[in-house]
Amino acid sequence: MNFDLTDEQQMIKKMMREFSDEVVAPGAIERDRTKEFPIEIFKQLSQMGMMGLPFPEEYGGAGADATSFAIVTEELSRGCASTGITYSAHISLGGAPIHLFGTEEQKRKYLMPICTGDSFGAFGLTEPNAGSDAGGTQTTAKEDGDHFVINGSKVYITNASYAKHLALTAITANENGKKEISAVIVPTDAEGFTIIDNYEKMGLHASNTTELVFDNVRVPKENLLGKRGDGFRQFLVTLDGGRIGIGAMAVGIAQAAFDRALKYSKERKQFGKTLSEFQITQFKLADMAMKIELARNMVYKAAWLKDQGRPFTKEAAMCKLYASEIAMEVADQAIQIHGGYGYMKEYEVERYLRDAKLLEIGEGTSEVQRMVIARQIGCL
Ligand SMILES: Cc1cc2nc3c(=O)[nH]c(=O)nc-3n(C[C@H](O)[C@H](O)[C@H](O)COP(=O)(O)OP(=O)(O)OC[C@H]3O[C@@H](n4cnc5c(N)ncnc54)[C@H](O)[C@@H]3O)c2cc1C
Repeated sequence: MNFDLTDEQQMIKKMMREFSDEVVAPGAIERDRTKEFPIEIFKQLSQMGMMGLPFPEEYGGAGADATSFAIVTEELSRGCASTGITYSAHISLGGAPIHLFGTEEQKRKYLMPICTGDSFGAFGLTEPNAGSDAGGTQTTAKEDGDHFVINGSKVYITNASYAKHLALTAITANENGKKEISAVIVPTDAEGFTIIDNYEKMGLHASNTTELVFDNVRVPKENLLGKRGDGFRQFLVTLDGGRIGIGAMAVGIAQAAFDRALKYSKERKQFGKTLSEFQITQFKLADMAMKIELARNMVYKAAWLKDQGRPFTKEAAMCKLYASEIAMEVADQAIQIHGGYGYMKEYEVERYLRDAKLLEIGEGTSEVQRMVIARQIGCL
């Protein structure tokens, strides 16, 4: 057993820690206010070779492991969770399904621009009537000669405005009421494909969340990703990896909230003492630090299992569930420790709470994680 990061992981952590402090964090309050997408940060991440981090070098990636991906996602999210979710979705939802299930030709055509940062990665699963019950997909991809013709819509899709293509689920056949759900890669500039970017969100304001509408969108049949009828399973496999990203985001937000709370508690004086001299504040901070430590270990363990090629569905669900719930708790306590100042945007901790809430919802709600864990531990 060895809890040390490898030399490469330590180097990535140091580099991303500095990048997050110097480049990502300084504009986070302003981006939260203006909702400006962090495109300049991503240009720099492309130059640093981070956009294809865990993908093979032959496709323009860096050939790093899932633990390194978790480290980068945590560090970016510590500075700005909107930047963190953009990165996490780009890699684990956009690039991963093409890497896992794409043909050689699809990887060259669609994974390479994701690795170089020429395209952002995105993933279209959720629909107005198919959220937790993702099998309830209603979008159709009907065969017409050498093409699929896609009709329907998707909601809450991250990064689509900045993606040149994305994989989505659609019904390719429906026999005796049994749906055949497949994954299809669709270029975002295809005729009949509309991307609407006008959600008013609670948090993650600088991330891109969109609604997609497909009106007779034609794509060649060669854009089928993997086998016909395998789309739903492929997306569940993809989500296992994505949950490591959400867990890492949660650890990053929680760490940022803790750091600010600790600093503030040592500066603020009431009753002639700093807040950190009151035992109740010390106990709050001790609990926060312990929960962050545990959440990070759970994220690293799930990533490590993935890197070993071992099953990690249960650990990914557990780390996502635990880390997102403690991120909410830690952000809430950080506001409490700041008192009235914590309620003000300038002190940032209120943003951490708003941003963290999505982590209990996206890529499977906390209830869905408990359902996945219950199945994994043998309840069914
Ligand atoms: C900012 C943001 C970004 C997103 N990005 C993407 C993306 O890039 N791609 C994508 O495909 N999707 C994306 N999503 C969608 C997200 O994954 C869904 O919102 C999520 O899976 C929940 O689905 P829903 O919103 O339809 O809620 P519902 O499924 O309607 O759930 C509502 C409530 O009911 C509970 N519930 C549902 N079924 C059960 C059950 N069987 N037992 C107990 N409780 C249950 C849920 O846990 C939840 O509390 C994003 C969402 C947001 C908000």
